[in-house]
Amino acid sequence: MSGARHREEDLLRGISASAGMAIGPLRRYELPLPRVAETAADPAAERQALAAALETVAATLESARHSADAQGQQEEAEIFDAHLAWLEDPALREAAEHHIAAGSSAGQGWYAALQAEIERLRQSESALLAARVDDLRDLQRRVMAPLAADAGAAEAADDDLDGAILIAREMTPSQFVAVAGRIQGLCLAAGGATSHLAILARARGVPCVMGLGEALLSLTAERAVLDATHGVLESAPDAERLAALVAERERRQAQARSAAEQACAAVITRDGRQVQVAANVGSAAEAQAAARAGADGVGLLRSEFLFLGRAAAPTREVQRREYAAALAALDGKPVIVRLLDIGADKQLDYLSLPAAPNPALGERGIRLWQTFPELFETQLDALLLAGNEAPVADAATPLQLMLPMVSDVGELRWVRQRLAARAAELGITRLPALGVMIEVPSAALCAVSLAREADFFSIGTNDLTQYVLAMDREVAGLAAHCDVLHPGVLRLIQATLEGARGRCPVGVCGAAAGDPLAAALLVAMGVDELSLEPAGIAALKAWLRELDAAALAARVPELLALDDGAAVRAVLAAWLDASAPRGFGVMSERRGHTHNKQ
Ligand code: PEP
Ligand code: MG
Repeated sequence: MSGARHREEDLLRGISASAGMAIGPLRRYELPLPRVAETAADPAAERQALAAALETVAATLESARHSADAQGQQEEAEIFDAHLAWLEDPALREAAEHHIAAGSSAGQGWYAALQAEIERLRQSESALLAARVDDLRDLQRRVMAPLAADAGAAEAADDDLDGAILIAREMTPSQFVAVAGRIQGLCLAAGGATSHLAILARARGVPCVMGLGEALLSLTAERAVLDATHGVLESAPDAERLAALVAERERRQAQARSAAEQACAAVITRDGRQVQVAANVGSAAEAQAAARAGADGVGLLRSEFLFLGRAAAPTREVQRREYAAALAALDGKPVIVRLLDIGADKQLDYLSLPAAPNPALGERGIRLWQTFPELFETQLDALLLAGNEAPVADAATPLQLMLPMVSDVGELRWVRQRLAARAAELGITRLPALGVMIEVPSAALCAVSLAREADFFSIGTNDLTQYVLAMDREVAGLAAHCDVLHPGVLRLIQATLEGARGRCPVGVCGAAAGDPLAAALLVAMGVDELSLEPAGIAALKAWLRELDAAALAARVPELLALDDGAAVRAVLAAWLDASAPRGFGVMSERRGHTHNKQ
């Protein structure tokens, strides 16, 4: 971070999962509060209802304390004791009854009484007292639950989260989606969050840092600063430091606005190379956002996202409509749809996938299609139909298909043959181009034989990095080392580009495409297209326009000879800082080591 001094002890450092800067209060993520009626007409009935709820919760806590005692869990028993003491506190009950007398429902009265106490504790200078906030929140929820208007109703919006920087050990994608519109930033202690969470945070433009460690969970602050671009949380900036950070945020926002003005223009690097900047999306709606963001096309439509969170696979018609809508959104620009990539971390409830001791090395992606031919062929049919309708003047459809987890050319041949057979069956002659993802080391090493038959390559740097380094992309503890800029990974990327030269174009659709250091190097190495989440497109385009790709290409042998990813990052950052006319700043809203999370 730049600006006035910071104190190192006020900083927590983690991994940037979604760039940007947030300034606001730190709030701990908790399960949403039950939804209760706000007002009630009969205070006497509400007082009775509150008394009954307090009794129910007291009985539950008593029995929890007994069983903790019986199991020798002394610490746990003491926590239940403390909760019982709060519950029986006459001052809290009186405050709740006061709200009820003024027209609140029992649940709302209890909520308001505890909320006032929570605010009081938060203002306190004592870390010990502030830590009791969690206990009160727990009691707030417990008593509101039996008073909820309808046990099955949606949870209440928690005003506490508005404008907050949310902290949590970890979070599921659906928990994130429920709060994403209200928070300013997200900090996770674990970083063991799935890569889907990072994808979602970027898609929604929520600054996010993962892997901040357990110390995060005891932080409280009314004005913290999350510089997610650099993976740093600063919890206690003084007034001078805060002013510097606010100014820094404004400077970055001004840069982002100026990048946005040029978002739809083509990218030509300083040395005259044209580079396509496309979007990674998960649906037709996101494809529309991509078009608005200035994408030169869709470089990766993760079609499996259409299959997640459903009771059954989408029908051919549902899929056809979705693919057609994505094509329409891009209005003739290329749209690359990746065929179903399930398995490993992406499971479907309605398919029982073969169990595997290590799912990342098991049946996933293309390896599953022969096991589920109907699923696979329905998708091919839907795509052929959508591609055939695409609104283009010439014979070529803008639809392109891409195969995940390919390890040799035989797999590509098999799919091409199935595609031709399905097209013949449907009477379609306008066939989409067929490319392969390079994300398995053998595919990179056999790039020549694949490039002879593939229409294009797209390097999946997330998986390629995990397989080259033998580091599971989902394991938080490895995240700092699971770096696409490791010379071993870069050498396979170079092998891929050499194999493809003169045969087929090469794109990159893994997280590396949105990492400014990696993006610059990939272009210098010869990549034709970078594909990243729509929110990052304008800044990446602006950054690449600053790049002298030929000058950086001359440094590639030196970079590949370095010891590890950290060394490559350091040398590359110094070179780019010195060589780009406006320096790194132009990409500051996208800068950061995004690792394997996109
Ligand atoms: C990749 O592996 O880089 C990729 C883009 O695919 P996914 O992240 O969906 O596995
Ligand atoms: Mg992949």
